Amino acid sequence: MEKSVHYPESIQKNEKLYEALIHEISKDEKSSAFDNALKQFDRAARTLKLTDNQIAVIKEPRRVTEVKLPVRMDDGTIKIFKGYRVHHNLARGPAKGGVRFHQDVNVEEVKALSFWMTFKCAVVNIPFGGGKGGVVVDPRKLSYGELERLARRYFAEMIDLFGPDRDVPAPDVNTNQQVMAWFMDTYSMHMQNYVPAVVTGKPLDLGGSQGRVSATAQGMAFCVHRAAAHLNMQLKGAKVAIQGFGNAGSFAAKLLSEDGCIIQAISDVDGAFYSEKGLDIEAAIKHVQRSGSLKDFHKASEAQKMSEPMDLLELPVDILIPAALENQITQDNAERVKAKMIAECANGPLTTEADDIMERKGTFIIPDILCNAGGVTVSYFEWVQNRMGYYWNEKHIFEELKRYMDDAFDAVLQASLDYQVPMRTAAFIVAIQRVTKAAELRGLYA
Ligand code: NAD
Repeated sequence: MEKSVHYPESIQKNEKLYEALIHEISKDEKSSAFDNALKQFDRAARTLKLTDNQIAVIKEPRRVTEVKLPVRMDDGTIKIFKGYRVHHNLARGPAKGGVRFHQDVNVEEVKALSFWMTFKCAVVNIPFGGGKGGVVVDPRKLSYGELERLARRYFAEMIDLFGPDRDVPAPDVNTNQQVMAWFMDTYSMHMQNYVPAVVTGKPLDLGGSQGRVSATAQGMAFCVHRAAAHLNMQLKGAKVAIQGFGNAGSFAAKLLSEDGCIIQAISDVDGAFYSEKGLDIEAAIKHVQRSGSLKDFHKASEAQKMSEPMDLLELPVDILIPAALENQITQDNAERVKAKMIAECANGPLTTEADDIMERKGTFIIPDILCNAGGVTVSYFEWVQNRMGYYWNEKHIFEELKRYMDDAFDAVLQASLDYQVPMRTAAFIVAIQRVTKAAELRGLYA
């Protein structure tokens, strides 16, 4: 049995991490979040008065590939899985975007997510286009060995699409460092070469980057510093509420509490916890490390458990950080949201209707494609380091990340002031201008 094979300790850890990674995503939530992104794109395209030709070139994906993946199961039978890779736009560089393993993966979703990547990479001005991939599979039903064979077959089947100058995948829902290591090894074996730059999000021992784990929250924190300066808001003593306490949310809480913010509320799937004078974030992180979630955190600390977790979004705080799911602030609760600033770690936490309400109320929103782009920016640094064969320390990574995030924030704020539009439309304006410019300079080949 594959399961009884002895893996080195680091891989066993990854196997556990892999199990912990598996979580449900709702199809409806994903697609309506994408509908919102399309509406935001259209708003920006209208403001820029793009022609139909310009819109056609940058809105639709360039290449959609579907493959059938035969995989030998542990019992000797062969099962066929369906896999996709979409290249949305390659005007600014190789495709960049994750590969997800999930039973609900479908081509429309993968196309939508690749669209998002094009504009996220353009906002932070890293030299990548947009891509995304997926395999229709419930990975909980595979053994470790079956998972490895599926991952390798996915990469091998589309080997010609991938490459450091063509398409550079990364982890997404239910894929992790170990899956990236298998992708990288499969590609390297085909090329008869060591080619770490073909994927990012690899283990540190195999060319991964320092700083990747906290990069998304760190990027958000740099944006919040810039936004606070713009709004004349003192971060020391500012009150903060954070929805979601996973990778993005827990590091967000840690970094902002180090800045002197008072983290009054945090939440996860097991409840929301509040303290007027501020929660002990180190204790909350240790609690989650010990018990797997925030469940019963109020019994182990001075925190109060909130009777209705969604009320966290409506607390009278200065900064609200949605870091969990899509569509959390809608026309139903937007009027009651009191935060002066919303920093979107999650993708698509506000609907377009909520956006309009928040704009009327004068709330300053740092939109997802800017706010959570720290992760993909450090992935870019991983690719750069792999190609140089020279590795930076965490201090250097964060100095570079700050430079990219500050430049991106300033460009978006300037567009918001120039065009008199909210920050979200401004982020799309900056991104669309960069993609359109590159596409026009390249022209049409044949
Ligand atoms: P994660 O799986 O590590 O954490 C998700 C957290 O949300 C968990 O604490 C979970 O318990 C909590 N949660 C789930 N349902 C909830 C609910 N109903 N109410 C409150 N909390 C709930 O995920 P993550 O990597 O931290 O990602 C969070 C969001 O940030 C997602 O939208 C993701 O797409 C986005 N994002 C993450 C990264 C990254 O690098 N981690 C990068 C870009 C965007």
